[in-house]
Amino acid sequence: MIQARSLAYRYPQGPALSFPDVEVPQGGTLLLQGRSGAGKSTWLALVAGLLTPTSGQLLVAGQDLAPLRGGERDRWRGRSIGFLPQKLHLSDALSVERNLSLVYFAAGLAEDKVAVRAALDALGVADLAHRLPGQLSGGQAQRVALARATPLQPKVLLADEPTASLDDQAAAAAVTLLREAARRCGATLVVATHDARVRDALRGAQVLPLVAEQVAA
Ligand code: ADP
Ligand code: ADP
Repeated sequence: MIQARSLAYRYPQGPALSFPDVEVPQGGTLLLQGRSGAGKSTWLALVAGLLTPTSGQLLVAGQDLAPLRGGERDRWRGRSIGFLPQKLHLSDALSVERNLSLVYFAAGLAEDKVAVRAALDALGVADLAHRLPGQLSGGQAQRVALARATPLQPKVLLADEPTASLDDQAAAAAVTLLREAARRCGATLVVATHDARVRDALRGAQVLPLVAEQVAA
């Protein structure tokens, strides 16, 4: 579940953004739509507790983020949020398996190797566990990055432009993988995109349209 009311964020050296209210039920899907610069990444970072709102209320998976500080917030994020970044940010020096192990470290939990294997298996990349990210194709790397978002069964799964630079077939596959991953976890899925193909693939999803001219206060 995500509930945002009167949410606003002012960049110290940049624009003041205010966002429309939204409420997404647990297990629901939200399409965060808008052109480049509309505030999609900022909204994701607020929901992930990476940025602190200048004003407004934010409930994410039942948690009010306002009172969470520092390490407490980091552990909450590690346990509650799965994130598929646009640039996948896999650590090049670590094997695929070790990349997934890092999520336990971030959440302050002991690693569960069985869950790591299951997450890789669910994305069809268990046989790549000992490879380095540099040895993966683009599609394999995205599956690994999505697998990394899932071993802790996050309550919210965030994806930032998951179809950027993918052809139609790969884009459709990426959206399907995201939906399936969210369903397995019982997670609320948020997909931030300006890609019309994602809007078509997620027809029926709740839409939060962001418009730069409107949000820039
Ligand atoms: P989107 O993800 O939709 O492309 P962003 O959330 O990245 O949009 O950016 C929204 C607005 O905030 C843009 O005008 C952008 O230039 C500005 N912005 C983003 N990050 C920063 C920052 N660290 N400092 C100042 N301005 C920023
Ligand atoms: P880029 O947009 O340059 O590809 P990223 O994909 O790494 O950058 O990140 C996109 C946005 O997602 C960033 O603005 C960041 O605030 C946010 N973000 C980064 N890490 C996380 C995370 N663990 N959970 C949720 N959001 C994150």
